[in-house]
Amino acid sequence: MKCESCNKKLATVHLTEIIENEKKERHFCEDCAQNVTNHFPKAPSPSDILTSLINQVSPEIREMSKTTCPDAVSLRQSTGNDAGDDKRQGRQ
Ligand SMILES: [Zn+2]
Repeated sequence: MKCESCNKKLATVHLTEIIENEKKERHFCEDCAQNVTNHFPKAPSPSDILTSLINQVSPEIREMSKTTCPDAVSLRQSTGNDAGDDKRQGRQ
C-alpha cells in the first residue's frame, strides 16, 4: 500500500480518524505521517475546543463591554446633567 499523501513511499503508518462517527483509515509513509501529525496533533478534547472557543470569543466580549459600558455611563451622566431640563425630566 502506498502513502496516500505522496503516493510514492510505502505506507507504514496507519491512522484511524473518526469524523462525525465515521471511521476513516489514513495510510501514510513515515515522512508524511510526521507532517500530518504535526499539522493535526491528536484530536482536541472537548475542553480544548471550549477553551479555544472562549479564547476566540472573549476578546470580542471584552471589546463589547468596553464600548457599551462607557456609553451607558455617559448616557446616565448626560441625562443626569440635563435633569434640570423640564422636557427631559418629563420623558423619564
Ligand atoms: Zn508519503
